[in-house]
Parts: sequence; structure tokens; C-alpha cells
Amino acid sequence: MVDLKGQYSGIKEQVDSSILNVIESAAFINGPEVHGFQKELEDYLGVKNVIPCANGTDALQIAMMGLGLKPGDEVITADFTFAATVEVIALLGLTPVLVDVDPVSFNIDTNAIKRAITSKTKAIVPVHLFGLAANMDEIMDIANTHNLFVIEDNAQGIGGVYTSKDGTKKKTGTIGHVASTSFFPSKNLGCYGDGGAIFTNDDDLAHTIRGIVNHGMYQRYHHDVVGVNSRLDSIQAAVLRAKLPKLDAYNQARLEAAIKYNKAFSGIANIITPSYGCEHCFCDMKNCDCHVFHQYTLKVINVDRDSLVAHLNQKGIPCGVYYPIPLHLQKAYADKRYNEEDFKVTNQLVKEVISLPMHTELDNEQIEYITKTVIDFIKNN
Ligand SMILES: *Cc1c(COP(=O)(O)O)cnc(C)c1O
Repeated sequence: MVDLKGQYSGIKEQVDSSILNVIESAAFINGPEVHGFQKELEDYLGVKNVIPCANGTDALQIAMMGLGLKPGDEVITADFTFAATVEVIALLGLTPVLVDVDPVSFNIDTNAIKRAITSKTKAIVPVHLFGLAANMDEIMDIANTHNLFVIEDNAQGIGGVYTSKDGTKKKTGTIGHVASTSFFPSKNLGCYGDGGAIFTNDDDLAHTIRGIVNHGMYQRYHHDVVGVNSRLDSIQAAVLRAKLPKLDAYNQARLEAAIKYNKAFSGIANIITPSYGCEHCFCDMKNCDCHVFHQYTLKVINVDRDSLVAHLNQKGIPCGVYYPIPLHLQKAYADKRYNEEDFKVTNQLVKEVISLPMHTELDNEQIEYITKTVIDFIKNN
């Protein structure tokens, strides 16, 4: 699904020497590499505060802790996403409110958000799923109307740009009140282990969060709030500093691969390709940079999707089903509050989606082999 070795060969010298420098300096925790990366990521994103932490799941949890969300508060998020999003809501004793998604963009359905709001709702967590920005204009409008926080889960969207109705362009993760991201190796900006970060333009919130990630400490050995221990280590920061200047080129390579895939699949009636134009933003459709293609996900209609998966695996083509079970049907998150009628889209998507290899090193030959294998299977079945 990803080719991290191929990508490494292009940055080997720099990565190797930065890692060696960290080892020689012995500044393994909170060293200059971490601080340098934090500043460089703030500049890249155009956000006032980046707070590095241990992983993307922690980043979400810490963002919610920083906002002071309390047990009983309802937090609305998408039914169709990675479990981390709902997991931290539940872990903090908050009440997850899962809602349906849009069938074209796979992102949270803003009408479903509106229907789910109650007097207990405190926050919305849009996920920029598979690398495509959620409908942030609408989500921010809803949040402003109802006085809610917006926490962007940007684990799959880093580097994406969202254009508002008025033409303002912002990087995903800098639009809501606070955002989280993950530097898991296979993410668009991945390190060589675990890593994550929280972003916010709110300086007071950033201050609160900097204490929370460090045991609730604002002054050495004074613990003002209950915190956690969540750090990005210096070796990971060194890797990320080598990769950050290449992030735009990496995302461009993903977009180009997606365009080639879409072209090869055009005209195949049983395949619905992902749109690489904008679904929810207002940029010039011809030159869209809002989709960073963390995953390249097709919908296959009237096709035995699971047999297609087995066939591709047999032909040596890795593929994935993200995600095979809607969160509201997972044992840990099922709840009597939910009504199947409200999850028509997710219940359908879990049967139809298939993600093909997507990374920065895909070449034409690989894309041709993959697309031909998929198309042959569909024609013959
Ligand atoms: C990867 C991911 C996370 C969690 O990130 P980790 O670094 O693995 O903890 C959270 N949300 C989404 C949408 C993700 O894809």
C-alpha cells in the first residue's frame, strides 16, 4: 500500500545524518530538533501554535482535554472513520454522537450534524477523510450558530488547502478551534515510528495544551491540572524535518497518481472513482489542491468487493478496505441511541469501498498493472 523504502532512498543522506546528530548530541527528548520542527511546521501551516506529541490519537485526546470538555458533553463525529476519533471521546467520558457521511466525499454530512445537535452538544470533530477536506465553511457556520468547538482530525489531510466561499485559502487543520494530526509512518507526513501534533491559533489554548502534554505542569513540579505524558522524540522530529520540505511534492505525486488511476477507470460503469476536484471547497476546480490523497478509494457497484480484494491479493496487489464496519456497529461503540435509518450512507459504503496502493513512489507501470487487473476482474465477473 505504501513504499516507504523507495521514499527513504530519496532523503537517505539527510535523514541518516540528522539521526546520527541526535544520537551524538544525546538530546533525545525535547531537544532542538523538536523545537525546530515545531517552528517549521507552524510556518508551513500558517498556524500560530504547533504542539508536538506522541501520536495522532493522543493529539485528539489532548485537544479535547485542552478545551475543557467534561463527562456528559456530547461530541459529534463521523460514523465512517478510523476508530481513534470516537475512542478518545469515549475514553474521556464524553458522549460520542456518530452521524452519517456524504456518499461522494466520504466526509461528515453537515445536515446530519444539524439534526444531531442538542443542548448538550459541545463540539464537532470533522475528519478530513482520505485526504479530502470536510465541508469546513458549513461546519464553522453551524459551530458559530450553536456555540460549539470544532476539532479537526487532520491525521489524513496534512498539506491540504481549503478555500472558503470568500476565497480565503487555509491549510486543513488551521480552520477549526484546534486540530490534531498523526505522523504514523504511512501518513502523508510520516516519521519512522509514532508521532503526532496539535495545532491551534488560540494562544491561551496552546498554553493549556503545552501543560497537559507534560503531566499538567506549567511550572516545574507544580501540577495544576491532570495531564498526560505525550512527547514527540527528537529522532522522529529529525526525520520529520527532513521530510517536511518535500511534503508538497509528495502530495503532488499522490494527486498525479490519483489522476492516472481515475483516467484508467473512466468509463467503467461499476467503478465510481474519487473526485480529485473540490467537493466542499470553493477553489478553481481545475487546479485543486484540497485533496492530498492519503488513500485512493473507489466505490465498486454490483461487484463482489471481497472477491475483488482476494483477487488483487492473489495477483500481488495490496489493497485495503477502509473501513469495513461502521463505528456505530462496533461492539465498543454500539448504542441504543442509534437508529439504523440514520446511517444509510455508511452502511452502504462499508460494502462498496476499496482502497488501492497510494504513495509517493507509484510509477506508470505499477498503475497500469493495478488498473488492468481491477478492470479485468470486473469485466469477467
Ligand atoms: C491515523 C489516524 C489517527 C490516529 O493516529 P495515530 O498516530 O495512529 O494515533 C486518528 N484519526 C485518523 C482519521 C487517522 O487516520
